[in-house]
Amino acid sequence: MTKEEKDKEPLRIGVYVCHCGGNISDVVDVERVAEVISHDEGVVVSRDYIFMCSDPGQNLIAEDIKEHGLNRVIVASCSPDLHEATFQNVLDKNGLNKYLYMHINIREQDSWVHSHEHEKATEKAIRLIRGAIAGVRHEKPLEPIMKDATKRALVVGGGISGLTAALDLADRGIAVDLVEKQPFLGGRITQLTKLFPTDVSAKEVIQEMVNRVVNNSRITIRLNTEVVEGSGAIGSFKVKLRTIPRGVQGIDNPDEVIDSCPVEVPNEHDYGLTTRKAIFIKCPDAYPNELAIDWENCTRCGKCVEAAKGGKITLDDTPSEEEIVVGSIIMATGFKPYEPAEGEFGYGE
Ligand SMILES: Cc1cc2nc3c(=O)[nH]c(=O)nc-3n(C[C@H](O)[C@H](O)[C@H](O)COP(=O)(O)OP(=O)(O)OC[C@H]3O[C@@H](n4cnc5c(N)ncnc54)[C@H](O)[C@@H]3O)c2cc1C
Ligand code: SF4
Repeated sequence: MTKEEKDKEPLRIGVYVCHCGGNISDVVDVERVAEVISHDEGVVVSRDYIFMCSDPGQNLIAEDIKEHGLNRVIVASCSPDLHEATFQNVLDKNGLNKYLYMHINIREQDSWVHSHEHEKATEKAIRLIRGAIAGVRHEKPLEPIMKDATKRALVVGGGISGLTAALDLADRGIAVDLVEKQPFLGGRITQLTKLFPTDVSAKEVIQEMVNRVVNNSRITIRLNTEVVEGSGAIGSFKVKLRTIPRGVQGIDNPDEVIDSCPVEVPNEHDYGLTTRKAIFIKCPDAYPNELAIDWENCTRCGKCVEAAKGGKITLDDTPSEEEIVVGSIIMATGFKPYEPAEGEFGYGE
């Protein structure tokens, strides 16, 4: 049969609704779901079964592919993360392209989250499967492709997630550009003291990681930097980075310089409980242990320049841009704490 003929073949969809022991069927009326779906256009087999992922469950699909000439398969069960590949393998082993498959999650996204709403959960399962039936109509057989990837990665965010990712990639021999928009590494962990559940000191954890990152020749740390443009695809992304100058280099008297600055703003490091100056250091053990200028609040009055001894403070440097090519990008940009509205969760009361 030619590809064109295959594309025009009438749809022969097999739908399998899993009980997952009772994880699904204690809430969703799986027999009813399978029965209702069996009347949908293109569906030639619609079954429910206690454990679709078991060998007998997989055999049901294998036999139906042979006996009923299925050309699309839908399994409504647990998360695709767990078993999508399991069922795709069944298609693969039985002569059906594995991309003619769709996995629907009626456990995490249905029975578990609507455990007290049996009727509505059953209706939701039917609607989710109908969505999949509409989807598989448009599926085409695909072939996996191999593509060369640039052996360089971009990690956006220099908190503990970004540091971990950068070290992991570097240990695999991949060059890493670690981009952090603030002038200091570490992210939110630097705001904590002892960490749950191990009771280890946050300061020690982060210092140990920062030391490894700083001393790893495969990792380029880019502080005060953000991604401003990006294009390309997996294997080769072109990314434009914009770095704003730190403004400060090698000052011998940081405390006096900080004292000289007349601008005082809420200190985000302690959620605004104290204030800091427009020339500042994030915390005593920050990396790098060097002052930085908060350009949003700096008035460029020049007082810090007058007070500085040793290195230099420059207030008129302009941002620089650089384009790099990387094979992959990891976003590790962290979180902002949610500020509830007055009264929400009792906030402010
Ligand atoms: C009050 C509190 C207590 C906690 N206690 C614990 C605990 O005891 N144990 C525990 O394990 N966890 C705890 N956590 C959670 C822990 O702090 C976080 O899981 C962890 O810090 C997240 O790290 P991260 O790197 O993903 O994000 P972050 O620490 O938020 O780091 C993200 C980094 O990305 C940077 N960034 C953001 N956007 C961009 C951008 N566009 N370009 C470049 N850089 C960017 C940010 O400046 C930041 O440095 C606690 C959290 C809170 C709020
Ligand atoms: S130039 Fe900016 S950082 Fe320096 S003292 Fe004035 S306000 Fe502060």
